[in-house]
Amino acid sequence: MKDIFLTSLRQKSTPTKEFREAAQALSRILAVQASTHIPLEVIKVETPLGEASGTKNTHRVVLATILRAGLAMLPAFQELFPAAPVGFFGIRRNEKTAEPQLYYQNLPIMNSHDWVLLIDPMLATGGSSTVALSKLEESRVNLKQTLLISIISAQPGIDAIRKRFPSVKLITGATDPTLNDHKFIVPGLGDFGDRYFGT
Ligand code: URA
Repeated sequence: MKDIFLTSLRQKSTPTKEFREAAQALSRILAVQASTHIPLEVIKVETPLGEASGTKNTHRVVLATILRAGLAMLPAFQELFPAAPVGFFGIRRNEKTAEPQLYYQNLPIMNSHDWVLLIDPMLATGGSSTVALSKLEESRVNLKQTLLISIISAQPGIDAIRKRFPSVKLITGATDPTLNDHKFIVPGLGDFGDRYFGT
């Protein structure tokens, strides 16, 4: 199923409505995949007819996302983690230096016990994710309990994150080989935010 949604996202003729539906469906799959990394405690519950074994969360999950494209994936993660606080990063590329610049940050108070899911649909150079992960690190987040979740990742971005944050776990719908001169993922899907928001 994942590949069907990815194909729809990649196809340049996909209209906004279908692009959104595919992005949401794929985000649900990635959210479930991310959830398998989060430890659970085995518990006993009483059913009306007896005792059954079950599981419960032992850690709080915190969601964090990068504006604006990350907003597209957020509802799927909120569905699966309805109690999770949500943090936001606003990061844009400086036109002169091409360096990612943080212009907005709003994070819940976090601690090293939390599991943090950083959501960013397109991991291109890894620049924005590096800024966000550095800020999470400053906020006392345990990077061993941090997942970076993307719909498409470029190999250079994966390499950059693995080098700078070796303990962060990466979850992605697809890995593409390269970036073009404008730092877009090739073959990728174009500008995710523009296609999702219809701009
Ligand atoms: N952001 C996008 O939307 N697309 C890319 O290819 C890279 C970054």
